[in-house]
Amino acid sequence: MSAEPVITYLRKLQAQGRSHISIDDEARQILRKFYQRALGKPAASPTPVATKPLTQAQQTTVTESLLTTPKQAVETSPPSASPDTADPITYSSHTPADKLTELKSYTTRFPAAKALGTLRQTMVFSSGAADAEVMIVGEAPGFDDERLGEPFIGKAGQKLTGILQAMGIKREDCYLTNLVKYRPASANQTTMTRKPSDQEITAFLPIFHEEIKTVAPKVIIALGAKAGQTLAASSSSVGELRGEFHQYQDIALRVTYHPSYILQEGNTPEKRELWEDMLAVMGLLNIPISEKQQGYFKQK
Ligand code: URA
Repeated sequence: MSAEPVITYLRKLQAQGRSHISIDDEARQILRKFYQRALGKPAASPTPVATKPLTQAQQTTVTESLLTTPKQAVETSPPSASPDTADPITYSSHTPADKLTELKSYTTRFPAAKALGTLRQTMVFSSGAADAEVMIVGEAPGFDDERLGEPFIGKAGQKLTGILQAMGIKREDCYLTNLVKYRPASANQTTMTRKPSDQEITAFLPIFHEEIKTVAPKVIIALGAKAGQTLAASSSSVGELRGEFHQYQDIALRVTYHPSYILQEGNTPEKRELWEDMLAVMGLLNIPISEKQQGYFKQK
C-alpha cells in the first residue's frame, strides 16, 4: 500500500491549521511500523489492539509522528548552530504584551532550536500576564500542554493553579513559561514526555532572557530540578535549593518542587515545604497571609 495519499491528506489538514488528529490503536500500530521502518529498525512484535474506546490522553499526535522525519524525532544529532548564530531580536513595539507576541514569532524561526533536531514541532510559548509580578518557570511542555497549546494545562498545571488559588493569586495574573518551548521528542512517543536535555535548555536561554527582560517580574518561581538548577546555576537538588531566595539577574528566585512531584503519593513533607516556599513568595510580594494559610500543613 502506498502511504502517499495518507501523507497528502495529513499535509492538507496541517495546512488548514490542524496539528493533531485522533486515531485508534490499530492505526497507531500501523503507523508505528512505518516509523520503525523509517528508522531502519525491525518492526516490533504487535501488541494487542485495545478494545476499550481511547481516552483523550491516549490520542496520538499523528501528524507529527508521520510527518516528522526520524532525525527530528529522536535525540541523536549534535547541534549545528549555537544560540549566538541567531540574529538578535529587535522589537518594533513597546508594550510587554506586543513584545512577547514578536518574541513568540521570532522563536518559531529561532535557528538554535531548529538545529537541535530533538524537539517536536508544535511550539508552546507562554501564557498569562506580560507585566506579571510572578513568573513561573517549568522545564518543557508535556502532552496535554502541546495538545492545547498552553503551558501547565495538564495535571501538573491544574495542581499549580490550585496552589496559586490557595495563595490568593490568579493564574492569569502570573506569567507562565518553560525553559524549552517545544515538547522534547522521543521514539515511539505517546503521552510520556522526557525531561529536556541540557543542550535543549541552553539553546533556548536567549529566548528566556528576552522574556525576563520584557516581563521584568518581581519574583521567579522555578519548578523542579531542571528549572531550579538552571536558574540557580547549581547542581544541587531541589531539596537543597529550596527554602531560601536566590537571585537571577537581580530578580528574586525561589526554587521549589515541581507540582508533578507533589502529585505523587507519599510526598507529604515536600507538599508542606512547597507551601512554605509559597508563603515566602507571598511575604516578598507583601500579600497578607491569613492564619488559615499559615496553618496549612501545620502538625496538629
Ligand atoms: N507542563 C509544563 O508546561 N511545564 C512543565 O514543566 C511540566 C508540564
